[in-house]
Amino acid sequence: MFIDKTYIEDLLKNAKNTTESELNAILDKASKGLGLSHRETAALLTATTPMHTQRIFEIANQIKQNIYGNRIVMFAPLYVSDYCVNQCAYCSYNSKHRFDRRKLTMEEVRQEVALLERMGHKRIALEAGEHEGECSIDYILECITTIYQMKSEGEIRRINVNIAATTVENYRKLHSAGIGTYILFQETYHPDQYKKVHLAGPKADYAYHTTAFDRAMEGGIEDVGGGVLFGFADPLFEVMGLLLHNEHLEETFGVGFHTISVPRVCPAPSVDTSVFPYLVDDDLFEKLVAIIRIAVPFTGIILSTRESSQMRKRLLKIGISQLSAGSATGVGGYKNANQNPQFTVTDERSAFEIISELLETGYLPSFCTACYRSGRTGDRFMSLAKSGQIKNVCLPNALMTLCEYAQDYGSDAFREKVYAAVERELLGIANEVMRERTRDSIAKIKQGQHDFFV
Ligand code: SF4
Ligand code: SF4
Repeated sequence: MFIDKTYIEDLLKNAKNTTESELNAILDKASKGLGLSHRETAALLTATTPMHTQRIFEIANQIKQNIYGNRIVMFAPLYVSDYCVNQCAYCSYNSKHRFDRRKLTMEEVRQEVALLERMGHKRIALEAGEHEGECSIDYILECITTIYQMKSEGEIRRINVNIAATTVENYRKLHSAGIGTYILFQETYHPDQYKKVHLAGPKADYAYHTTAFDRAMEGGIEDVGGGVLFGFADPLFEVMGLLLHNEHLEETFGVGFHTISVPRVCPAPSVDTSVFPYLVDDDLFEKLVAIIRIAVPFTGIILSTRESSQMRKRLLKIGISQLSAGSATGVGGYKNANQNPQFTVTDERSAFEIISELLETGYLPSFCTACYRSGRTGDRFMSLAKSGQIKNVCLPNALMTLCEYAQDYGSDAFREKVYAAVERELLGIANEVMRERTRDSIAKIKQGQHDFFV
C-alpha cells in the first residue's frame, strides 16, 4: 500500500529537524513553481515561524497568479440520491439516520438541471450515496445521459462524478458515458482514524477505498480528483497522504490528481462535529491550502460552499482555482430548499451574487469546460499544464464563457462590467492570433451565438 502510517509519522517527526538553510532551499525551489516532493512538503508543514509562513503565502500567491491568473472556474453539485448503506460518522446520509430517503426520477433530474442551467452553470458534480439496490451504476448512467441530453436555459457541458468506490468495470462504464473528473474523497488517510469514522458498510474497507483511483484509471478514466475532509486526523498527516497518493498515481499511471478538494468537517443534520478531534482552525487551514498549492502547482484546488465568503476570499488568493456557487446539498434541493442536506452550506449567496462579487473583486469567473471536450485529459492535460501553455487556452475560454454568461443571464449593468473586464483581459492574451480569434468569437457571442472554446 502506498500509504504507510509509520512512514508518514516518521517523516513528519524528522521534518521538524529541517535546518534553516534546508528550509530556505525548499522555499527557493518552491518559488520556481516546479512543485515539491512529499519530503520537502513535510518540511514546510512543520515550519512554524511567522517568517516561513509569510513566505509560504507569498509563493502560493505567486504560483496562483502565474498559473491560474485571476480565473476561477465555477461549478455546482447535483445530489441525485441519498440512499446509503454506509455508516460514516460525519454524514447525515449515514444509514443509521432515519429520514425519508429518495432518489430523483429522470423527470426530477431534468427539473433540477433546468434550475442549474438557469443559474448559468455549465459544469456540475453529480453526487450520490452508496446503495447498489436503489442507486445502481445503471441509474447513475441514466442520470448522466439525461443531463447531457438536456438543454433548457443553457446546457451542462461537463459532468464530474462523485460516487462510491467501485469496480474497474463500472469505471469503464462511467468513462464511456463521457464523465469529466471522477471525484472521490479519501476523507482521512490515517488508517486508524478511518476505521473510527467509517463504522460499517463497504466504505469501511480502507484498502478498497484508497485504491479506487487505480481501478478508475484502469477503467480508462484519466482525470481523478482526490480530497480529504479535514478534522479526523492530524491535518499534516492528511496533506502527506494526499501527496503520497498523488505520487503513487504519477508513478503508476503517469498522471496524478487532476483536482484536490479541501473540505473541512462542518455541521450536518444529526451529526455532532464536536467529537472529531482535529478540527482545523482558519489560520492553519489557509496554510495547508497554500502548501498544497505550492506542492502540486498544476492540480486544481476546489472549494465548496462549506466555507464562508470571508474564508473563500482568503483562500482564493493563495490557491483555490474552482468554486461552487448557489449550491444545494440535498436531493432535489434546487427545487425545494428544505430537502435533507448532506451538510450545511455556509456561503448561502446565490450563484449570481457570488459571480458578481468575484467580478467586482478582480476575478474572472469562468464557465469553461474546454479541456475535456477537446480531449485534453490525463497526461495530455498535465504536459500542457506543466509546460505553462495551458493558460494560453484558459484565458480565452474564461473570457468567452463569461461573455456568454453575461449575455444569457446578466442585467445591462452586469454586462457592461463584464465587457469592460473582458476588454482589459483580452490584452493579456499573448498570442496575437489567439487574441484576435477570441475577440472575433466574443463579437459573435454578443450577437447571440453560443459555445465557443479553444
Ligand atoms: Fe454514504 Fe457518502 Fe455519506 Fe458515507 S459520506 S454515509 S458513503 S453518502
Ligand atoms: Fe480548465 Fe482546460 Fe478550461 Fe483551462 S481550458 S479552465 S484547464 S477546462
